[in-house]
Amino acid sequence: MNDTYRVAIIGGGIVGVSTAYHLAEQGETNVVVLERGELTSGSTWHAAGNLPHFAGSFNMMKLHRYSKKLYQELEARHGDIGMHLTGSLRLAQNRDRMDEFERIAAMARQNGTEMAVMGVDEIRTRWPWLEVHDLQGGLWDLLDGHVDPTSVTNAMAADARAAGVTIRRNAPVLAISRADSGRWELETPAGTVSAEVIMNAAGFRAPEIAAMAGYTIPVSSMEHQYLVTEEIPELAARDDEIPMIRDPDISYYLRQERKGVIIGPYEHDGVPWASGGVPPEFGQELLPPDLDRIADYVADAMERVPMSASAGIKTIINGPITYTPDGLPLIGPVAGIGNCFLNCGSSFGITQGGGSGLFGAQWILAGETSLDMWELDPRRFGAWADSDWVAARCKDIYDHEYAHSYPHEWADRPAGRPVRKTPAFDRHEAAGAVFSTAFGWERPAFFAADGAEQEDHYSFRRADWQASVAKECEAVREAAGLLDLSGFAKFDVSGPGALAMLESIGANRMPGRIGGIVLTHALTSTGGVLSEFSVTRMGEEDFYLVSAAAAELHDLDILQAAMPDDGSVKIDNITTGWGSFVVAGPRSRDILAKLTDTDLSNEAFGWLTGREIPVSGMPVRALRVNYVGELGWELHHRIEDQLALYDALYEAGAEFGLVPFGLRAMDSLRLEKMYRGWRTDLSSEYSLVEAGMERFVRFDKNADFKGRAALQAQVEQGAPHRLVCLEIDAGEADCISSEPVVDDKGEIIGTTTSGGFAPHLGKSLAIAYLRTDLANEGRLVSVDILGERRPAQVHIDALYDPGNERLRA
Ligand SMILES: Cc1cc2nc3c(=O)[nH]c(=O)nc-3n(C[C@H](O)[C@H](O)[C@H](O)COP(=O)(O)OP(=O)(O)OC[C@H]3O[C@@H](n4cnc5c(N)ncnc54)[C@H](O)[C@@H]3O)c2cc1C
Repeated sequence: MNDTYRVAIIGGGIVGVSTAYHLAEQGETNVVVLERGELTSGSTWHAAGNLPHFAGSFNMMKLHRYSKKLYQELEARHGDIGMHLTGSLRLAQNRDRMDEFERIAAMARQNGTEMAVMGVDEIRTRWPWLEVHDLQGGLWDLLDGHVDPTSVTNAMAADARAAGVTIRRNAPVLAISRADSGRWELETPAGTVSAEVIMNAAGFRAPEIAAMAGYTIPVSSMEHQYLVTEEIPELAARDDEIPMIRDPDISYYLRQERKGVIIGPYEHDGVPWASGGVPPEFGQELLPPDLDRIADYVADAMERVPMSASAGIKTIINGPITYTPDGLPLIGPVAGIGNCFLNCGSSFGITQGGGSGLFGAQWILAGETSLDMWELDPRRFGAWADSDWVAARCKDIYDHEYAHSYPHEWADRPAGRPVRKTPAFDRHEAAGAVFSTAFGWERPAFFAADGAEQEDHYSFRRADWQASVAKECEAVREAAGLLDLSGFAKFDVSGPGALAMLESIGANRMPGRIGGIVLTHALTSTGGVLSEFSVTRMGEEDFYLVSAAAAELHDLDILQAAMPDDGSVKIDNITTGWGSFVVAGPRSRDILAKLTDTDLSNEAFGWLTGREIPVSGMPVRALRVNYVGELGWELHHRIEDQLALYDALYEAGAEFGLVPFGLRAMDSLRLEKMYRGWRTDLSSEYSLVEAGMERFVRFDKNADFKGRAALQAQVEQGAPHRLVCLEIDAGEADCISSEPVVDDKGEIIGTTTSGGFAPHLGKSLAIAYLRTDLANEGRLVSVDILGERRPAQVHIDALYDPGNERLRA
């Protein structure tokens, strides 16, 4: 028997099998799936098999859509796999829910998914058996439905086997080690399997596999129950199947199962399972049912669909579902470990199984994905995600499974917080900060002004916190503001090989002189944006790199992958040891001048330069750059100096009107300046040329860099899209992202990637990608915002200070 493979996938649930299927489809059949028991014997076999398109994000919706299409193809090839495309109706009991539905329906329109928001009258007419008295409307998804999870897995397994993939059942992986050659060795009862690449698809046992391979993952399991009723006479009398009902404001799904129904609640106080580890002997069994826990939800469901109330309960299924702290699976590389991938943490693994396999396979074979899958990248969590935080967040996600997907809400919800605070946290809190999190860091989102409550209020429309944000924006534009961005990822890259290494990573040329700062981007092979680094040349061979907080592990991987093995480069991740304040605004020079003897004039300390200077006696890396478009400095400092620096800045700043500002003000100010956001406006799906960032590409430099050929081709032949700024005649709602941009005939010509209200200009703005031929200054277009088609004007340049005069001030 061959025990040597290119790829070993651990786990034969829908996700592992789908990955094997897609590897084979993409031409790699030197693959083994090692399954502990029988295929699907983890969570897959007992899943309800529901297949919603609904998702809080555009790309997750695409992933869901892909899975559904794949399953339809499998059914066409293999015969019945239990596909029932019944359509589904999500119910809205409040206006916010209707807003959410409008937002999701607009996303759906852009990816060919047929969804429609409808009013109560239409619902009553189409589905007279539904109780509608308390509804405001609903969201109809024409192609929602369900599939038999075991049949669909077996169909993919059959295709994978036929293509040459090996699937071994009753082959538990007992231990994992790495040979000197770098190959992985997986111990099973039948002997050792050797593989170049491993993927952990072990479902609720994924943390065990992680421990064997020497890493941890933020995964925790929750109990989930659904009940199946006996036959319902009204359903027995019908030839067709009723659509699935989801009542998110109560929190359950209900669908037809044979001639009865399934009712599956997500309780608001869910029950974690096996927090201390899955018992070794736990196999294919179910967990003991607990009807009391779900009784109220079931009663609600039966009131909603009265015909179901007469039916007895046939069975209750209670099984474990894996959760991650943000409810999305972990698909991609394990930080810092080569040839080691995850495809686990799926709480909707049947809905996502097809797409999870597709992107899992792309990661293994291409090292990148065809859609921007950052939201699934395992490196969005770090070692700071300790087990208490993970458990609290996973339970919180389950408890809020059907909550409105408001902007900002996930990062704000209190469960498990705080895990990462800067020393200035208490100072910010005393100043009125309302915090939000990124990569675990507590960061001021805004500072409650004029006696406003120190808490966030969520909405799909313009919310009350805008008043506080407007004050902060005004202060930054007119005087000065201080923003704590200590979470920035920060790296010192040094040594004789540092310059050449950095030239090879990004599209831009490194600063030629000491003190120079450049922005450079690591790209995909198609020129899409992976990372955005600001690089300051601190010395001949010393470079200081700063990138997005959430990108710390992702970007460290990129740096380490490029490191030559001759010892000529040293990389220090100094993220936690260094803090970072932004002091920006026309009075920022006056403030800083009180704390340092360094000449801060334009001649001595120009825009886009940086160096270490003493500030109030402390060594500070002062970088004359900022993301809000004003005169200002980023002040990177030793974390132990943070409070002293904070106090010194405020003492010096009092006479100049220095105020604290938060991330939401920053976001509004950067929209005015048309600064692109990492992983929103800059993503791996659009090239740096499409993003209008050609000035950061140096085709004439000697070093080659990934994506260069693709960018060159776009420069020569034209790129399909162009990033623009939209000035929108909005109502009381602004763009968030993924709103369709349409022409005067209603044809979709682009999509937004971020947006919001900019109080300084008093305008509603968005960043969008449009078809290049339509991306001209002044063009009139429309944007679909919460069901309304709002007029908008295209701008190629920033609306605020396009010539950067303020930055050079
Ligand atoms: C009651 C219930 C209802 C659900 N309903 C839905 C639904 O309607 N729609 C939906 O999308 N999702 C639903 N889910 C979630 C869905 O079941 C899971 O997300 C999905 O099955 C996860 O698939 P997986 O392949 O990642 O994990 P699993 O199916 O658990 O597969 C992991 C596999 O790894 C194997 N394994 C573990 N350890 C080892 C080892 N050491 N060596 C080798 N193999 C190992 C296991 O035996 C298992 O077969 C439901 C879940 C439950 C509990």
